[in-house]
Amino acid sequence: MLTVEQAISHIISRVQPVTGQQRLSIRDALGRVLAAPVSAPINVPAFTCSAMDGYAIAGADLAQTGEQSLNVVGRSLAGHPFEDVVQSGQCVRIFTGGVLPEGTDTVLMQEAVTVDGDNIRFQAEQQQPQQFINRVGSDVQLGTELFPQGKRLSPADIGLLASLGVAEVWVTRRLRVAFFSTGDELCALDSQPKAGQIYDSNRYTLFAMLQRLGVEISDLGVVRDVPDEIEACLLSAAENNDVVISSGGVSVGEADYVTDTLQRIGEMEFWKIAMRPGRPLTFGKIQQAVFFGLPGNPVAVMGTFYQCVQPALRRMLGETVKPPLRFQVPCVSTLTKMPDRVEFQRGILHHDEQGQLVVRSTGKQNSNMLSSMSQANCFIVLPENCTHVEQGEQVLVEPFEGLI
Ligand code: AMP
Ligand code: MG
Repeated sequence: MLTVEQAISHIISRVQPVTGQQRLSIRDALGRVLAAPVSAPINVPAFTCSAMDGYAIAGADLAQTGEQSLNVVGRSLAGHPFEDVVQSGQCVRIFTGGVLPEGTDTVLMQEAVTVDGDNIRFQAEQQQPQQFINRVGSDVQLGTELFPQGKRLSPADIGLLASLGVAEVWVTRRLRVAFFSTGDELCALDSQPKAGQIYDSNRYTLFAMLQRLGVEISDLGVVRDVPDEIEACLLSAAENNDVVISSGGVSVGEADYVTDTLQRIGEMEFWKIAMRPGRPLTFGKIQQAVFFGLPGNPVAVMGTFYQCVQPALRRMLGETVKPPLRFQVPCVSTLTKMPDRVEFQRGILHHDEQGQLVVRSTGKQNSNMLSSMSQANCFIVLPENCTHVEQGEQVLVEPFEGLI
């Protein structure tokens, strides 16, 4: 059996980023991965401007102590600069975002001055030279690398690109990912389940998880537990896709044909990970396509997808893969666990009555209980050697927000 970390690094080392690129307008680039670094083509702010409503003055006019008086010679509003040079003894009425006129380098807040006709009065020793200004390039400096290659673009990134006047970026092409379910017991949503049949939920969770990741999806439906049919499906899926994902049929039950089929038509790399839910996972290649054979149990599908498949897909998308965000919090439930495997139990992070961040269990942890995933907002990650957790003990949690 492989540890989860071994499995992930093994998988990551065997997949390559795709080579295709696309040039997209920044609105279409949300959630896409940069194929090239982006450097700032301008300074932000592009000019030194006021951070306050007030008066732009020369810092040198603060040299003397006591009450000072300056003559207001004009106005600088955002988008309407004052065009002349300000001389000593003069100042300019200025508003937030207004360009600091030539000859000035300091802003007095309007609350700090007394207006007296065309003049203002203020206490010089209460003011600091160069206060309340946003200096040219203080947010982003011209030429600095803003984003490295491999950055997945967030809403803030899209706005930041716009603030630099960057309208288009190069992103990696979308991955083509096909998936299907295996199992004679599976029933489509538009049919009535016969005795012993269940609805196929895995294709829907897979669809949703892949959709969020921003890949091109092809849903190949349900394949019966018939080796020839599994083989035909795998071969045709591998021809048109970068990645093929199946669920079910990877354990050692009588009707588990996925692993055998893969061995026959492709390369099979391994199939047991010391994790729960989700111990069986088949990884391999069929022609050029990367293949993941996920377990059948619905929670195991999500667990193995998030822990093992998603990092691989991110790497193929050209993204820089970081370990998931995990931190310790007290657990307010008693937990039990089998030794020798890492368990990803389902937890609910919340604030207790004292306002402290704690986690509680969703309850029963059977890997067929998809409702536990739906109630949870985090995994409680229990290490291999742990066998139980007492109330109040610290546990490691991995919030779902980080899972995209
Ligand atoms: P398997 O790995 O094929 O033995 O499946 C393990 C368990 O997961 C069985 O109880 C299956 O009925 C269930 N299962 C397999 N595929 C699906 C699916 N697509 N949707 C819901 N449950 C499934
Ligand atoms: Mg099955």
